Amino acid sequence: MPEDKSCHMRPAEFRRLGYAAIDWIADYYERVESLPVLSRVAPGEIRAMLPARPPERGEPFEAVLKDLGEKILPGITHWQSPNFFAYFPANASGPAILGDLISSGLGVQGMLWSTSPACTELETHVLDWMAEMLDLPPDFRSTGRGGGVIQDSASSAALCALIAARERATGLASNERGCGGRLAAYTSTQAHSSIEKGVKVAGIGRANLRLIDVDAGMALQPELLARRIDEDRRAGLLPFFVAATIGTTSSNGMDPIRAIGRICREQGLWLHVDGAMAGTAAICPEFRHLQDGLEFADSYCFNPHKWMFTNFDCDCFYVGDRRPLIQALSILPEYLRNQATESGAVIDYRDWQIPLGRRFRALKLWFVIRHYGVEGLRWHVRRHVELAQEFARWVQADPRFELAVPPPLNLVCFRHRGGDALNQALMDRLNGGGELFLTHTRVQDRMTLRMCIGQTQTEKRHVERAWRRIRETAADLESHQAES
Ligand code: PLP
Repeated sequence: MPEDKSCHMRPAEFRRLGYAAIDWIADYYERVESLPVLSRVAPGEIRAMLPARPPERGEPFEAVLKDLGEKILPGITHWQSPNFFAYFPANASGPAILGDLISSGLGVQGMLWSTSPACTELETHVLDWMAEMLDLPPDFRSTGRGGGVIQDSASSAALCALIAARERATGLASNERGCGGRLAAYTSTQAHSSIEKGVKVAGIGRANLRLIDVDAGMALQPELLARRIDEDRRAGLLPFFVAATIGTTSSNGMDPIRAIGRICREQGLWLHVDGAMAGTAAICPEFRHLQDGLEFADSYCFNPHKWMFTNFDCDCFYVGDRRPLIQALSILPEYLRNQATESGAVIDYRDWQIPLGRRFRALKLWFVIRHYGVEGLRWHVRRHVELAQEFARWVQADPRFELAVPPPLNLVCFRHRGGDALNQALMDRLNGGGELFLTHTRVQDRMTLRMCIGQTQTEKRHVERAWRRIRETAADLESHQAES
């Protein structure tokens, strides 16, 4: 127990231990490549290593760091390993980690402009930068009718969009009296589960979410959408919301935003576009065709915490008109009243999100953009896409394997031609070996492997090694299959 009964870390001690913590992270990054990517612990194994009771007296920081290495690290799946190819990435980088650290150090709670003006103004500014970097429609900028805000996740962005759309469709009546099960929402069979969750949480009711079929390229079919909206209207429902996706989670399907947007505009439906991972690609002009028609969208989101080197959590959420969002989510109890809010001259971001409180997330995004520069970010996106396209060519050149769908960007969906059981065994063996981690989906109702290349430290040699392992492991499984 330190002599100082308060136990607080004084600045000198904080400085010393802070260096130790940064050293710990830097050492981790130096060796993360050599660690088994997927954690191998069994359920309960980590808890079994921890004392049942909390410490009665404070412990030395060094003891905590030691336990971090010995008791926690074995239970970590290494998302920051260059051999991580699973799900979509959640990549991080030095400047983002430092930005987040400083945000923790400042400890700002930025619910109102007045609770830390820089927290709000930097966020508005960086999101305007981002809008320019992605070439988003002018309405999405704070200088237009809309603007951007950082949410914790794409799931929260979808929920905010649903609620704003619900209130716009019902003239603000459902916030007061509920929406009575009359509203109907639309998305594709391939949309992320967060849309379904948002529909449930926003009180729309899952039975009122229509899953529209996709074409062979996994893109929503606009004519089926139009037909379903029509049918629902004739049945007395109020169609109000469509969620389209740029880069679906399963196979990176690209919905035709322009065609969907026209239908929404004609019919008065809110269009939300979810570009959670693939949205980052629009930093490069050559990939902007994927978001063609975005000017028809009422809201849009993408996650720098997936593919833009900004550690979790950071979702950029834009609206083309901020009024419906603010009207739907604004609450002003007496204890939050202040002159700046009343003047109407400031943004209070608590009106743009579900929770009241908010972290200073813009710092890490600002650090990332300033560290890499737009050109630097483009370079990385292009490199990831090139690596994925090269991987896809290797798959095509091997007669034992096939692509499930052509890869538009950095996600390759492929499979061994030997059937579901072989692909399952292949994935289990690869992931169990620790040298790489990839996940699966079902495409054309067949087990399909997903290789997503977007990790900060991934280089060609990692992709080459992964492909070598995949082929060797497949050959081994094939020979066992032939023997039995
Ligand atoms: N939308 C898409 C297309 C996704 O792929 C994901 C996650 O992978 C999400 C939404 C949900 O992201 P978040 O974890 O930010 O809610």
